[in-house]
Amino acid sequence: MDIQPRLQAITRERYQLEPSQCDDGQLYHALLQLTQELCRHRAAPQGKRKLYYFSAEFLMGKLLSNNLLALGLYDQADALLKQWGSSLANVEEMEPEPSLGNGGLGRLAACFLDSIAALGLSGDGVGLNYHYGLFRQVLKENCQQELPNPWIGEESWLIPTGTTFTVPFGFGPMKAVLWDIAIPGAHTDVANRLHLFDVEHPAPAPESGIDFDKTDIAHCLTSFLYPDDSDEAGRLLRVYQQYFMVSAGAQLILKELDEKGIDPRQLCEHVAIQINDTHPSMIIPELTRLLLERGLSMDEALHQVAHACAYTNHTILAEALEKWPMSFLRQVAPQLEPILRELDRRAKAVFPDPRLAIIDGHDTVHMAHMDIHYSYSVNGVAALHTEILRKAELKPFADVYPDKFNNKTNGITLRRWLEACNPRLAELIDECVGQGWRTDPSRLEGLMDYAGDGAVLSRLLEIKSENKIALCRALRRRQGLRIDHDSLLDIQAKRLHEYKRQQMNALYVIRKYLEIKAGHLPPHPITVIFGAKAAPAYVMAKRIIHLILCLQRLIDADPQVNPWLHVVMVENYNVSWAERLIPACDLSEQISLASKEASGTGNMKFMANGAVTIGTMDGANVEIAHLVGQDNIYTFGASSDHVIGLYAHGGYHAWQYYERSGIKPLVDFIISPQLLAIGNDADLRALWTDMKEKDWFMALLDVEDYIATKDRAVLDYGNRSAWARKALVNIAKSGFFSSDRTIAQYNQDIWHLG
Ligand SMILES: *Cc1c(COP(=O)(O)O)cnc(C)c1O
Repeated sequence: MDIQPRLQAITRERYQLEPSQCDDGQLYHALLQLTQELCRHRAAPQGKRKLYYFSAEFLMGKLLSNNLLALGLYDQADALLKQWGSSLANVEEMEPEPSLGNGGLGRLAACFLDSIAALGLSGDGVGLNYHYGLFRQVLKENCQQELPNPWIGEESWLIPTGTTFTVPFGFGPMKAVLWDIAIPGAHTDVANRLHLFDVEHPAPAPESGIDFDKTDIAHCLTSFLYPDDSDEAGRLLRVYQQYFMVSAGAQLILKELDEKGIDPRQLCEHVAIQINDTHPSMIIPELTRLLLERGLSMDEALHQVAHACAYTNHTILAEALEKWPMSFLRQVAPQLEPILRELDRRAKAVFPDPRLAIIDGHDTVHMAHMDIHYSYSVNGVAALHTEILRKAELKPFADVYPDKFNNKTNGITLRRWLEACNPRLAELIDECVGQGWRTDPSRLEGLMDYAGDGAVLSRLLEIKSENKIALCRALRRRQGLRIDHDSLLDIQAKRLHEYKRQQMNALYVIRKYLEIKAGHLPPHPITVIFGAKAAPAYVMAKRIIHLILCLQRLIDADPQVNPWLHVVMVENYNVSWAERLIPACDLSEQISLASKEASGTGNMKFMANGAVTIGTMDGANVEIAHLVGQDNIYTFGASSDHVIGLYAHGGYHAWQYYERSGIKPLVDFIISPQLLAIGNDADLRALWTDMKEKDWFMALLDVEDYIATKDRAVLDYGNRSAWARKALVNIAKSGFFSSDRTIAQYNQDIWHLG
């Protein structure tokens, strides 16, 4: 279709202007309106069974380009905007980014919605309408500061539905207002919905920072994503959020069944509920409760619930496996207590083993245990992760429910993470293998025929170089940084967590700094880029950010070092930054302690954009390594079996590694006079002490292997055509990591949407 006449009509009506007279903000709003109109005309997919994907997070990122791509209007819109003196890239700058997620888990949910719609499957997301999302990160005085991140303006992607539900909290009933975001499917003419529940009268943004009254549930329930949970009020608010989401969501499911004229006694034939991590687990007792209210017996209700619900486990980090004191749940939703006790009683009657209990001896409710007993599928998110769940973490459950456990290796939508963020690479792929890969990503494999084609390899290098120039321009514009775009861009972009080991990467930087100061220059200039937010209450993560920023300052000010080495921390890492960083990356850092990263999805995005991975054999890195082969990835570090053994037997002692001659100077540099002159004494000292005495995630165990492996990668980078070949192989093998593949497997093995 030709969108020009409608766009013209919209700008005349809204602004009494021709499109060519509009500024980027006006053009953005005109395109938003047009896109919303087109989505509204799309029908929902049909199927016998409908999926409800429950998730506390949907890290959508900006939606304009993505939706235009799905509607098949991306190229036309870009060409029109250029004719009018702008571009899609410029206009997209006007869009605030909805950051309704922390990181990988929320981004996975967003990729899944994209793929569910693209495959024409009937499936909606269910979540919460956070007003200030994940905080906006500001870097000031070498520290992270947090600010609210508002994204809902006068006009946004939210569509009012007029639907409300009443959530029965312990303190009284509260209204849940339903807003929708349209999810148009690419290459189809259907659209699904993301359902976001909100309070009726949301609180305004806090005056300063992200502090707010956590006890003012009626107004603040949807203010922020996962508020600081280091105090009781914060943890309680989290339970309020969870119950609000699932109670309203369960009522939505029953309303839609009623509208289709389906008896709730047949619910499980018509409804599949995917529980994305344990945050939505209360859907199990809540849906049970509502079915009892509708006259089903407990046996009938539980049969329906347990054959509708499926659970995805995302972590084996013990602190992330949610468990709530019954006293909390009683305060939030007292009506759930008898149901939870009955669920527990029934589970214990069949399985007396206390390790399988839903409610433990301290009257604490283990959400994952409830999910496993009352779901028909339990999946891990990468082959290694599922293996660890089966053999170690959830072994007692896998022993009694062997058929429930299955693996679904995560994926990413290549529409956002290749077609939209790296259009020139997408075009080169079209030229080599045709456009078929855009609907069938396995066809990327056809690129293997070009692994020896010098012309294609040099095109690949050219495209990478253009993307690097674009990234450096963005860093200059936004943060005033001058980066050498010919340097090797080594990027670690992901949430800051000790298990992801940004601190180990910082030790590499220190090592290079000391070498350069001693006159040993690297074979090429290296730029080590970090993008990472630390949870506001996560003190150690903030100290690691502080260390990185101090190193950045030190090196920036040293003319002997900075021609060879730069450190950059991008401010406010989010989806938009990821879309700029990933296409420009040469070396992708995936260096978590083996067994700790369930899957990772950043690793897949970098690979698909022709970055070569340096990584541990953890999460989906294992599958990446098997696909690309040892010549096309740099792996290092202790194996997951070894690490699991060290934890089991207390066999790791940081100080034994710290004393080594190759390690001690690096760790001690953290409290060197140079760094103490820049940074905060107490924070740097605390980090230093922790690293040499505790080092819970064993950075010192792997750091020597890491440095040697990374040095090898830096050296190999000198042979550009050999490097380009590695990049090409990575792109060719990335089709497996399309979330279209992941979703097809969920549908085939779990959902059976028909
Ligand atoms: C993909 C993505 C993540 C997840 O990265 P991991 O390396 O898998 O942890 C986090 N944040 C953003 C903005 C992303 O796009």
